[in-house]
Amino acid sequence: MSKALLVIDMLNDFIDEKGSLFIGGVGKSIIPFIKGKIAEFRQMAFPIIFVCDNHEKDDKEFEMFPPHCIANTWGSKIIEEFEVNNEEKIIKKRRYSAFYGTDLDLYLREKGIEEIHLVGVCTNICVLYTAKDARERGYVVKIYKDGVASFDEKAHEFALKEAERTLGCQII
Ligand SMILES: [Zn+2]
Repeated sequence: MSKALLVIDMLNDFIDEKGSLFIGGVGKSIIPFIKGKIAEFRQMAFPIIFVCDNHEKDDKEFEMFPPHCIANTWGSKIIEEFEVNNEEKIIKKRRYSAFYGTDLDLYLREKGIEEIHLVGVCTNICVLYTAKDARERGYVVKIYKDGVASFDEKAHEFALKEAERTLGCQII
């Protein structure tokens, strides 16, 4: 079964302490694990998809969260540690789910990918709602518990349980 790695929202505004919606040290703490997974997927020649929050200046989401990841700003860029190359797919999104208003589903289907592995932030927001949309579309979803994080530890734990018990994801 062909598989892909989704690296979700590992962007300056969330992960760098100078970022406008810095989630705390937990974000940085998962970088080494994710780097390892990226290296593994590159070596196996399986696709890696970088999913990136990318908002309008006056995005509706800013009614709930402080402005962050505004298109074409430093904050919206992928952290430099991952050394993204030109062959890797970048998905820009404006909502929590990587499927909402993007070509992710089409891309995965064209590549014959049936299984997606998730890493990134935040466990209880963009990771969880991407997992939900993926499961409803019939994908096998695996979430690396050492590769996801949130500013809210309790919500992080809840999201992993919910993903496993309600959505049928595998937490590995
Ligand atoms: Zn956002």
